[in-house]
Amino acid sequence: MPNSKALDKWIAKHPGIVQDVDYGSGYCTGSGNAWNILLTTGHCAYGDSVHSIIEETVREAISELNNVQTCDCWECRDDRARGDQANAQV
Ligand SMILES: [Zn+2]
Repeated sequence: MPNSKALDKWIAKHPGIVQDVDYGSGYCTGSGNAWNILLTTGHCAYGDSVHSIIEETVREAISELNNVQTCDCWECRDDRARGDQANAQV
């Protein structure tokens, strides 16, 4: 696994956005490997409603992370509704 110090730092600075980071096989990358970053519910990558970022380099991954938006897809709305319900029951 390549050095991810910059990525770790970004995640520490922005809690609640990244759920999981994995380095492994990535499609459409020159090296065949990529950073697979899973976003938490309610967040998606800029421009397309996907909940993960797949980039070949830490630098690219971070620039994508800087553009993460609030996600309003049915999945996230559903999850939020469930969370609200759970809160209401407490
Ligand atoms: Zn979503």
